[in-house]
Order: sequence, then structure tokens, then C-alpha cells
Amino acid sequence: MAELIYTCPSCGADFDMANVDTKKRIGYCIFCRAYRPIPKKHSNNSADLQASLDEAVNLFKSGNFSSARRCAETVISLSKKNAVANYIISFCDAFTESFKETKKYEDYFLRRFPDFELEIEEEELLKQLIIATRNRSMEFECEILKKFCEYDDPEELAAFVDKFSPACIQKRPDISFMSEEMMNVYGEISEKCLIPQTWLALYNSMLKNPDSPLSNDSFYLKTKSERVYKEFILRIGNIFNRIKDPASHTKFFGAFGKVQTVYETKLAKANS
Ligand SMILES: [Zn+2]
Repeated sequence: MAELIYTCPSCGADFDMANVDTKKRIGYCIFCRAYRPIPKKHSNNSADLQASLDEAVNLFKSGNFSSARRCAETVISLSKKNAVANYIISFCDAFTESFKETKKYEDYFLRRFPDFELEIEEEELLKQLIIATRNRSMEFECEILKKFCEYDDPEELAAFVDKFSPACIQKRPDISFMSEEMMNVYGEISEKCLIPQTWLALYNSMLKNPDSPLSNDSFYLKTKSERVYKEFILRIGNIFNRIKDPASHTKFFGAFGKVQTVYETKLAKANS
């Protein structure tokens, strides 16, 4: 395989690979004396590889996992790092009957995924599969968003997040997903782009998440209500306060303020 060469989009000079961060798609150009974005590349898959990959994806989507896995193995034999084929294999090994190596799926997102350099078509397919397998992939929502937040341009990022995250948020059985790290990732995305569906889902989750005392008027559980306030309600406020678009900030941070007032009033009443 020919060595990849990245060129500066401003002056056309080749980047010194020592100055290139392919994960963040950014390179330092010694001629421009500035950091420049590295454009994404289209795939140059051979016809054989592409045919096996298409077949693997179609079989996977139709639930024919053992055949999908076999086709994905063929892809790997031609291109070891293919992110889509590796996803199919780790998913099949983790969740289909013959294997049950859930660790492999975890490894995919925790160890390999952050370093992937994705061709345009490969990334698109991978995103489709992540969305199609949301019931499993939502466990790694934080890792997934972190990767694309770093890797994507704002518009691509917004399109993916608003397709993937709202249903994840709706399905959360408790508030444990809202770690400080998750809050920061949502916050960073809110500074970069518009994700109205995700913001709406976060707003609704304050009222509907089963852990929220607003969902079942359980403010008499004082300790829990105070914990939910700190570890969930305030974190959502923090995210909304980082929304950069002024109209969206007014709308969502304003709506948050109203919920916060109701919450605090009910909490004070329960404590009196
Ligand atoms: Zn340059």
C-alpha cells in the first residue's frame, strides 16, 4: 500500500508526518506557520474488498450474523484495519450465540475506536451500523461522541449526534449515564454545532428519567432528590449554558431555569 501523504490545504506543501495528528485531522504547516485541517479521504478500496464489505454490511443488517462475520473476515484479510469489518466481527463475537465475548465489543470502543482514521465512506457505514445497533452501542455513547467531536466537521457532527443520541437519552433507565465526562462531551458539542433534538431529549429527561423525582413526584426521597439535582439537573443546565447559538441558548437555558425553580421549590418543601 502506498504511503499516505497529506498536503496543506492552503499552500499545497506536503506536511511533515511528524507534525500531523490524524486523529484530530490537523497538521502544522511549516510554510504557513499555522495549523491546518487535513481533508478527509475517499476510500480507495479494491473491487474485491468493496464487494465483501457491502455483502458483510447487508448480511449484518438483515441479522444473518454468521455469514456477515465470514464476509467481514474476508475484508480483514485484505485490509486489517477496516473499522466497519472490525465492528461487525466484535459485535458478532460479543452478542451472537456461538461466541459471547462481550469484552471484544468493549475493546472495540475503548481501545481501538479512538485511534481510527476513517475514510469518508468507511465512516458513513460505521455510523449507520452504530445507529442500527443502538441498543448495544449506547453503552459507549460517551466514547462515540468524543471521537466524532474530535474528528468531524461541525455539520457532520450535528447530523450524527442528532440521529444517535436522542433515542439513547430516552432509553436511559437511570441517571448514571450523565457522568462528568458525558456532560463535558455534550457541552463541547453544544459549543460547536446545533443539536436541537438532543437538547430536547435532555430537557425531557429532566422530567421523565425514572430517577428524576419530577417523573413521579418522589421528592420525599430527600437524599436521592438532592443527588439527582447535583449529578443530573445541574449538569444538564451546564450543557445548555454552553450552547453557542444565541437563540437556542435562550430557549433551552431559559426552559432549564424554569425546571430548576420548580425542582428547588419542591425540594425545599420536602425538607421543611
Ligand atoms: Zn501551508
